[in-house]
Amino acid sequence: MHIKSKLFFITYFFLCSCGVNQASQENPGEIRVRLPLSAVQNDNQTASYSFQVVPLLQINSLSQMRGAYARFFTNPSEKESKLVGTSPRADFLKNTDGVYIPKNEISQQMASIYYHMQNMALFDKSIGAEKVNHWPRDIGLRVQLQTSENSTTADENNAIYDGQLDAILIVPYNENKIPLSVNGGVLAHEHFHSLFYKLVTKKLLATDYLTSKHDLTVHTSSDSNIDAMTTTLVVLKGLNEGLADFWGWVYTQDNDFILHSLSSVGNRRSLKISALENENFRFKSPSRIQQELSVLSAETQNEAQDLVGYAYSLGTDFAKSMKLLSLRLKSERKISDSEAQGLVAKAVFVGMKSLADTLIAEKKSQQESALKSTTTDEKSNSEKAVATGVSIKTLFLQFVNSVSDLKVSECEWAKSVLAKSDMIENEKCQTIDAKVSLK
Ligand SMILES: [Zn+2]
Repeated sequence: MHIKSKLFFITYFFLCSCGVNQASQENPGEIRVRLPLSAVQNDNQTASYSFQVVPLLQINSLSQMRGAYARFFTNPSEKESKLVGTSPRADFLKNTDGVYIPKNEISQQMASIYYHMQNMALFDKSIGAEKVNHWPRDIGLRVQLQTSENSTTADENNAIYDGQLDAILIVPYNENKIPLSVNGGVLAHEHFHSLFYKLVTKKLLATDYLTSKHDLTVHTSSDSNIDAMTTTLVVLKGLNEGLADFWGWVYTQDNDFILHSLSSVGNRRSLKISALENENFRFKSPSRIQQELSVLSAETQNEAQDLVGYAYSLGTDFAKSMKLLSLRLKSERKISDSEAQGLVAKAVFVGMKSLADTLIAEKKSQQESALKSTTTDEKSNSEKAVATGVSIKTLFLQFVNSVSDLKVSECEWAKSVLAKSDMIENEKCQTIDAKVSLK
């Protein structure tokens, strides 16, 4: 048991050492439970954890922590693309105020995940995404996973969304920090992957736009030139991770929600934005990305791992771009933080619904113009486009243009980001049928 979780339990037992009743109610429906939750104090945008009493809704079985929002499996395995395993037992004490207190670590994990999934269901509904997922969500606990194919080492300190199983898998955690299963931002991040998988990845796999069954299986060419499929996989992986971090930030309002659980990557994925970065935000230019990917591909011993790391760094830029877009909407429209973030989250959802079509059409038109081009110069340019893979510009525009009732000033901001990133060609902010878009 980790020191932090030990502290939680010591506090629990201390708090409820008198007058406790063993909870045995099987159909309580709605219960109040005490959980460690994060809260941001004094606008410093970094949260700390404390105990709060919150409601869990539509619980059918308290001893299995099953209900409308989640169901749990321990040491699960896969059977016919479904998660199977035994249902862990949740034990609670009920204090004199009628509040349920988890008695051990697994009960706390289950109640915590249930609570955050319940909130994810509400959030999905608030942006119109309530039909994407099946509920209750399947959650695997204490999952034994290999770190990679052919590896005998078990993965640790990780939470994973598995698209084929449609489940969140939590592997054993041994850092001396907030367990991933208690970290609301991490759970929101994983939940986002389920939306991305169903709205984007699945369609790209079905149309053979992506040739791998996994998010990112790296195919590299033998020379130092990175191929288009690798670039596409790295950039789309980055997009998926970055938008997932944006989801975690929107849910927790915490720039450093990952740092509470993972010291190694938490700082790199911080969503703090300095005043200077706010003024000068830009993505890495397409040529820089090509160059850096080629270097990584040619030089490293552990190429796949480094490309995944690179994808996460692109991801942080995507996350920051969406955060900055929400700050822009807030100031342009004089609305609250939560309204502005809701508008961007909705734009992300709307943008994802047609993203696969956009990417497939883009690839097709690149291929067609490569075939049609007659002069050598034209030919090499369009071949270059085909060889470059998906562009960050296409992805950024997909979400900016999905913002409901985009204003000219907001569009101009997006245009300036593209200009600073060496990504602008002939795009302009156009108004057609009273709808502004950057095309
Ligand atoms: Zn992720």
